Amino acid sequence: MILLLDLTREQLRGLMKEWGQPAYRGDQVYEWLHKNLVTDPMQMTNLPKALRARLAAETVINPLEPLAQQDSRDRLTRKVLFRLSDNATIEVVLMLYNRRRTLCISTQVGCGMGCTFCATGQGGLARNLSAGEIVAQAHWFERWLRQPDDGQDALRVERPTRLTNIVVMGMGEPLANYDATIQALRAIADPTAFALSARSITLSTVGLIPGIKRLTQEKLPVRLAVSLHAPTNRLRNRLVPLNKRYPLEALMAACHQYQQVTRRRITFEYALMRGINDSAQQAQQLADLLAGLRCHVNLIPLNPIPNSPYQPSSEEATRRFQQVLESAGIPATVRLRRGIEISAGCGQLRQAVQQPELHLAER
Ligand code: SAH
Ligand code: SF4
Repeated sequence: MILLLDLTREQLRGLMKEWGQPAYRGDQVYEWLHKNLVTDPMQMTNLPKALRARLAAETVINPLEPLAQQDSRDRLTRKVLFRLSDNATIEVVLMLYNRRRTLCISTQVGCGMGCTFCATGQGGLARNLSAGEIVAQAHWFERWLRQPDDGQDALRVERPTRLTNIVVMGMGEPLANYDATIQALRAIADPTAFALSARSITLSTVGLIPGIKRLTQEKLPVRLAVSLHAPTNRLRNRLVPLNKRYPLEALMAACHQYQQVTRRRITFEYALMRGINDSAQQAQQLADLLAGLRCHVNLIPLNPIPNSPYQPSSEEATRRFQQVLESAGIPATVRLRRGIEISAGCGQLRQAVQQPELHLAER
């Protein structure tokens, strides 16, 4: 079975030619898929009946089967666990803010990077997602948001509406699945189709330097976020094992290069762990490390995960850390914690149904 969302517009045109159709049929299919978000070829009403039937017989449009859904108590966060065609599972999270509706999407089943504070990393990498499997996550939630409100749904959002932002911060390391991720983001940002502006998309990486270098040349103006978590190699080696291969000096050089070419501000993510990386001295070291970069630091109070030795920093330590950065001229914000009680927070996503009560005691 061909997953239609795996194909670029050009590839769809190619498929139509292979099937003895004029190439423009490929454009028509592309628009039905990426603009109208249909899930059934029979709805592609400007195609000949025989072609619709062949599409129905030989292709798949939506590869995601929802298995479980959880909403946070404030009804502003929804996490959905999906099964893919090979029974692999992924989680995707929708977050509602005042004026934004942000979707956190996954790029891999699990993750092979082994960061010691991250639940996704604990399970290792099962496989990469395909471009279509990544795009489908956005389409699934967008379809729901575009439907008029039927008064039945618990989430606090006025429908019909649309996604306003996408963060590539779910399961997996996007730059370790580079081609599929970029193809998916191009489809999402295509102004003639799904049309979510690339500037509303943020890709978060653990610091895979070859990927950052490719992204620098990509001409796809998504925002870049780099997960730093430590200001020295000694500490970062412990928290982010990949640092042994791509140490801070090289990572910072790649960030400077990225900024020189793209002129875009970079976000650095820093999960604050009590007594590990949250001292005033470490904040100063971080400020020194980032000096000369146009950037923003996103401080994330650590989210609890099972079997982890790390605790979140106190509010006081968090504020102090932020103040040191700010007085060094580096804008820093504390990221709102969302959906923690349903394990929908950063680094809490896994490949199985989770008990909502599991982490409550640890908050
Ligand atoms: N693999 C990519 C993107 C997915 S992780 C990356 O690492 O950047 C998204 C963000 O959540 C990253 O900044 C990651 O460091 C952070 N994160 C992971 N585990 C966390 C935890 N337990 N608490 C808070 N943030 C966490
Ligand atoms: Fe993978 Fe990111 Fe988790 Fe590290 S923090 S294990 S790179 S998902």
